[in-house]
Amino acid sequence: MKKLLLLGDEAIAQGAMDAGLSGIYAYPGTPSTEITEFVQHSKQAKELKIHCTWSANEKTAVESALGLSYTGKRAMACMKHVGLNVAADPFINSAFTGVNGGCIIVSADDPSMHSSQNEQDSRFYGKFSLVPVLEPANQQEAYDMAFYGFDLSEKYKLPVLMRITTRMAHSRAGVQQCEVRKQNNLKLPDDLVQFVLLPAIARKKYKKLLEVQPLLEEESEDSPFNFYKDGSDKKLGIITCGIAYNYLMENIQNTNINYPVLKIGQYPLSKKILEKIYNECEEILIIEEGMPLVEEMLKGYLAKGKKIKGRLDGTLPRDGELTPNLVAVALGLTDTKGKDVPQVVVQRPPSFCTGCSHSDTYIALKEALIGYNKYAVFSDIGCYTLGALPPYNAINSCVDMGASITMAKGAADGGLHPSLATIGDSTFSHSGITGLLDACNDKSHVTIFILDNLTTAMTGGQNTPGFGKIEEICKAVGVEPEHIRVIKPLKNQHEINVKIIKEEIEYKGVSVIIPRRECIQTLTKKNKEKSKNK
Ligand code: SF4
Repeated sequence: MKKLLLLGDEAIAQGAMDAGLSGIYAYPGTPSTEITEFVQHSKQAKELKIHCTWSANEKTAVESALGLSYTGKRAMACMKHVGLNVAADPFINSAFTGVNGGCIIVSADDPSMHSSQNEQDSRFYGKFSLVPVLEPANQQEAYDMAFYGFDLSEKYKLPVLMRITTRMAHSRAGVQQCEVRKQNNLKLPDDLVQFVLLPAIARKKYKKLLEVQPLLEEESEDSPFNFYKDGSDKKLGIITCGIAYNYLMENIQNTNINYPVLKIGQYPLSKKILEKIYNECEEILIIEEGMPLVEEMLKGYLAKGKKIKGRLDGTLPRDGELTPNLVAVALGLTDTKGKDVPQVVVQRPPSFCTGCSHSDTYIALKEALIGYNKYAVFSDIGCYTLGALPPYNAINSCVDMGASITMAKGAADGGLHPSLATIGDSTFSHSGITGLLDACNDKSHVTIFILDNLTTAMTGGQNTPGFGKIEEICKAVGVEPEHIRVIKPLKNQHEINVKIIKEEIEYKGVSVIIPRRECIQTLTKKNKEKSKNK
């Protein structure tokens, strides 16, 4: 079979397609977006009629994947780590229902928060929901784990969580491809109540889920992704998880260091797997990307007084992404970090692209707010969040997807006027609609901007499910048609836009202003495509 040069994200996608995937669902979010994009642009996916769609949000993505699995086929749902919070309800319940066809949920964590609001470790979701977790150390494992993950999922009739982190997702390496498997045939579940979580059934399901845990631990003991590499120097035993194994190897491959290493790529961990290294070595160092999950387990399981080093005792930093340099320092090696950045390299804070419609919207909004002493503009996740930075300083919050409208509503309930929200078209479809419904039901005095740039700009220009329907959605949800105002965020429309915003701020109810102009980036891309096809 062929050898391919793939990003970690692409390796997961290719592995899943080769392993008989029938459908993939996702909401875009860095660093997970490229998994679905790869399937979307794949000739193989088209030929095999693999269903591939961007979902309205991560919850709908997981639910769709669960529905596809119900038919006996192999399904995947992909998201970034904070997306798993949105999908937590179906994800955790899917451990109770179980699956029919193999189902893999991929969550891409972003330690160091390169483009995220928080740093969290999806492995805890696996522990919490009691499902197996796979964590690849390299691109080949990412590919192989798709095959293994679907088989594991079907063997135990449970969803499998695949957890990756930013470097794994976005670095490229050679991947050996396997024989392509056929997709599963349509086969409905034998158990007619398998997916019915009525309390009496759910209680039985929970007992079954608990009963299967020792078997899942045994699977981890025999997993090809967990192995023990013996070493002659037992002064230190090293446990690595996922990509941390690579960071360790980068540091020790050309040295005489010969410590035993336990490499972990599959959870749940069993005591047995940890015991050998713990008993044989004088001290233990745990190198794991994210939170100290294994370190805490080890301290709890095997508290026999040996020194356990890792992120909890400060041998490695408690927060942020790991790097080979940090691992070098933890091993007592020289920090190999490169030269300092020369002073001539100027720091460039993030900013809107030149000509971005959001900047014209914020300029008009700021001017309309002159004269009000107390107000707040609650915002959301997307390019428009950059309005928090100078020179705009135009927004006061960015908490989670969809929080802008609901926070503005809450503040209005507390008597704040003007109470405003800015949300993008994609985020509105993701989780803003229900907040708008709440605001309309309570007739809250809020002014909501749905900044419509006709795409999901921040993650590279994916479709938005609400495309072309925003006014209709607002009307259907209960906004008075005369208070749905569409404006053109352009400099030459500035005066009229300020006037409209002022009018709507004073309207004592829910008003929606839709500044509509296409994202410069997607427009340029489209124009280039057009001239290429001429
Ligand atoms: S990508 Fe589009 S929406 Fe985002 S800042 Fe650039 S022009 Fe604006």
